[in-house]
Formats: sequence, structure tokens, C-alpha cells
Amino acid sequence: MTTTPNQLPDNPYVLLTPGPLSTSKKVKAAMLRDWCTWDQDYNQLVQSIRSRLVTMASSKPDDYTTVLMQGSGTFSVESVIGSVIPKDGKLLVLANGAYGKRIAQIADVLGIYSIVLDAGETKPVNVKQLEEVLKVDSSITHVAVVHVETTTGMMNPIADVARIAKQYGKTLILDAMSSFGGIPIDIAELDIDYLISSANKCIQGVPGFGFIIARKESLVKCRGLARSLSLDLYDQWETMEQGNGKWRYTSPTHTVRAFDQALQELEEEGGVARRFERFTRNQQTLVDGMQRMGLQPLLPTELQSPIITSFLYPDSSVFSFDEFYARIKQEGFVIYPGKITAAATFRIGNIGDVHLPDIERLLQGIERQLFWKTT
Ligand SMILES: *Cc1c(COP(=O)(O)O)cnc(C)c1O
Repeated sequence: MTTTPNQLPDNPYVLLTPGPLSTSKKVKAAMLRDWCTWDQDYNQLVQSIRSRLVTMASSKPDDYTTVLMQGSGTFSVESVIGSVIPKDGKLLVLANGAYGKRIAQIADVLGIYSIVLDAGETKPVNVKQLEEVLKVDSSITHVAVVHVETTTGMMNPIADVARIAKQYGKTLILDAMSSFGGIPIDIAELDIDYLISSANKCIQGVPGFGFIIARKESLVKCRGLARSLSLDLYDQWETMEQGNGKWRYTSPTHTVRAFDQALQELEEEGGVARRFERFTRNQQTLVDGMQRMGLQPLLPTELQSPIITSFLYPDSSVFSFDEFYARIKQEGFVIYPGKITAAATFRIGNIGDVHLPDIERLLQGIERQLFWKTT
């Protein structure tokens, strides 16, 4: 490796978005080479990534395996939904935002029988209703839920969902896209069958692939079930296992190299528990500072994740998000529009290579730009 991170240009702004997000210079530097794919070095790297992910997710690593999948996070969600539910299966989706709804939409497009329990955008998914439905509808085979609904930043009660789903013997699919690597989880303890996440969120890599951490006992039953060739989860797994880290079709080599570096940095930071502390500190500092300036979060603290926060527009006819966005970008930060219909909001993420001094600089920048307050 001859490139030094110091030779890389500085970013004009910090991304405070839920991914792609700000990455370290070493992560970016890892991509500045033409890496070969079809050899031992690369395959070993892939195998190492797969096993490190399993260890991160599960206290029983031998029971689980990782499948890496090309594409953005949604491709991995579609891979799971399309590959693990048999023809006569039925999916129950717990939704409270865009990403829960997307799971249901995938099922619709693929012609998978599904029902959606939609709690609305500002409430956690409804565990009581889940139990009522599972009690009366024994044809349901799979339950899917989003861990942190990035639409609002809400943390869903996945331990309760898992307990009920398992009590009724259902296969459980967790979209942990925006939380995995940033919020500790033990999928063995929760008895989760499939956890889905991607390279460019809390692990702080760049976009290009997602990954599925699957219970082996569940995955082995999925041979020949896939409704897609390129997104066939079982086939992708079999190839990676038999070829010792080989991908079917072109692998996103540079992204994988960057991801390896990102995983190393996560380990150096002290693992998921330490990263969770950093994100939590970022988020609390952000909310405290915003509240001091009269900007209120959408969600009550007990529902709020340490990943991304929705803020209500200030109550002023002078406020415009576009102007606020442009001014904050001038200050060196890119924020995110809101995504819900229930209230006018904007969002600020605090994941990525973002640290307390960044949040403090952001707050100072926002304080200079409270244009709706001056007359
Ligand atoms: C980011 C995200 C996804 C996947 O989005 P892509 O744009 O396809 O990468 C899925 N679910 C959740 C909860 C997310 O935050």
C-alpha cells in the first residue's frame, strides 16, 4: 500500500446522513488500487469478513453464517424475502415507516402472500397486535421487522417481537440495515433467523454490497426457493462456502477492501459497544444543543435511536428547509430532509466517522443560521 491517507483531498463537508456517510481517509485509501479478485488473497479476505461479521452478531457463531450480496441494502432485503419464503409461505410485516413498507412492497412484487401490520410513522411496531394475529392465523410462516426505522430514527422493540414470533414458531427476518455495528445485538439470544445490513451504514464502509447473517439451520432449507437468479441467497451462500470466499458474478472488490479496513477500524475503536457509546453521545449532544435553540425532536427520548434524529420544523412562516439546508451546507455539514407525512421534519444523522467535536461545530454552525428567528 503506497498511498498515504494524507494525500487524499479533504471533504468540503461532513455527511450527517444515514448512509452513504462520512468515512475515514484510510477507508477511502483502500480503494485506490486495481485489486484482483480471483485469487487466494482476496478469497481469504472475504472469508475473514464473513466470519468477523458472524462473531459480531452472534454469541453462538457456529450456528450462523454470513452471505455477502452485491447491490445496495435493498438488494439484500429482496434477496432474503425472495429466497427464504416457500411458495406456500406467508409473510407478516411489522411496519412503521418507509423501510417496513418496502419489505411489504418487495413481497408484493414477488407475488409472496403477505400481511402488513402498520403502526403509523410515530409509534413503535405493535407487538400486541402481532400476537393477536399469530394466535388466529397459523398460515403465517415468516415475520419481518425493521430494527431502527430510519424514516424517523425510531428504535423498534425487537426483543419483544422476537419473543412472540418465536413463541409461535415463526422464522424471523430483521432489517438491521441502519443499526448493525452501531447498536449491540445478539441474534442467537433473540433467536433471529436472518439479519440484514449493508456496507455503508454503521460499519462505516462505502456502498456496493449488503450482507445477511443467517442461521445455518434455516438457510439450508432454502435451496431452490429463490424467485431471482442474481439474488438467490442460497446459491450465493453455497458458492461462497464451496469456493472459500468466491462470489457468484463480479464482486464489488474495492468496496470489499474498504469494508475490511472499516471493520478493522471498528475493532480498533473497541467494537460495537464503544461505537454505540460514541453514537449515543453524538445524538444526545445534538438533541440537547438543538433544544437549547428551540428545535424539538419528533420522537420522545424512549423511542429514539442513537443513529438518526428527526426534528420538527420550527413554528415560523419564515423557515424553509431548502434555505436551512443550503446554509448548513455552507457551514460544512450535509443534513437530510424528512420522510414522513405526519409532520414537517428534517433529519440529522450522527453515524459515520463523526465525533463529538463535529457535533459541537455543527451546533455552532446552526446557531449562526437561525434565520427564522431574526426579524
Ligand atoms: C438504508 C436502509 C435500507 C436500504 O437502503 P438502500 O438505499 O437500498 O441501501 C433498508 N432498510 C433500512 C432500515 C435502511 O436504513
